[in-house]
Amino acid sequence: MTDNRVNNSLNIINNIVKNNKVSHALLFEVDDYDTSMSFIKNVAKIILCKQKNKSFDNLNCNKCNICELIDSNNYPDFMIIETDGNWIKKQQLIELQEEFNNKSLLDNKRIYVIKEAEKLNASSSNSLLKFLEEPGDDIIAILVTKNRYLLLDTILSRCQIFSMKYSDFNISSDVVDKVENFIDYITRKKNLFIFYKDIYDNILPDKNIAKKILSEVEKCFMQYLVKNSSECDVDNRKLYNIDKITINEMITYVKIIESEKQKLEFNVNYKIWLDSFFSRIIGEVYDRSNSSEY
Ligand SMILES: [Zn+2]
Repeated sequence: MTDNRVNNSLNIINNIVKNNKVSHALLFEVDDYDTSMSFIKNVAKIILCKQKNKSFDNLNCNKCNICELIDSNNYPDFMIIETDGNWIKKQQLIELQEEFNNKSLLDNKRIYVIKEAEKLNASSSNSLLKFLEEPGDDIIAILVTKNRYLLLDTILSRCQIFSMKYSDFNISSDVVDKVENFIDYITRKKNLFIFYKDIYDNILPDKNIAKKILSEVEKCFMQYLVKNSSECDVDNRKLYNIDKITINEMITYVKIIESEKQKLEFNVNYKIWLDSFFSRIIGEVYDRSNSSEY
């Protein structure tokens, strides 16, 4: 795993933890197990470390008692389940559950890791599923696999999924970043032309990228509108700034994006198109949300 991907993912997890949105089960799809375990320990430290001064580029303190115990594999409420070579056995899951059913002595979350989760067989999958269905408040499962599609759908549907695979990351991470940044800019509800250079240089530099990014933004808004929930993700990365957009605004955005995307199919001058796209957002979303008719 390259440093960039690791840092990016750790920052996302840090945000999720800070926003109290960490789910009871996280799944990391990785390229290889050996290098991914130090990453998993960092995830555990982000969740368990209680030092409050975690900063953006120093996500865990690495010097408190908890961090040290995790690093040396001695933290009692951080357990790693591994295969015996062939399968993860039902008995291992039963022992894990017994262990976690006991009250923890530490006033903190508890984490178990299932390494090579694709090696769960039918009966151990079912034991895990029962455990995932009734998670204790403080218990977090971390599943690590090379191929999430080898796991039962019923398990996957309970997990917050993070792909750390090199190929996935290269294709989608950049797009997800752009979608996130674009939504961030439009939620500021300021004259978008102030951010013109940034948006043009970094988010919507040309017609093809603009089509891709706007399709993703639209998909994301539709997901939000259809599910009528405050949950929204792009490629499994949850977007939080979307809460700042009202339902009415979102419907208008979808309408604008839909028609502006169509214009891009024709031979328009891209910069003129971008100007008109910004003007429509300002006129149809911002101006109206400031007036009483909205
Ligand atoms: Zn710490």
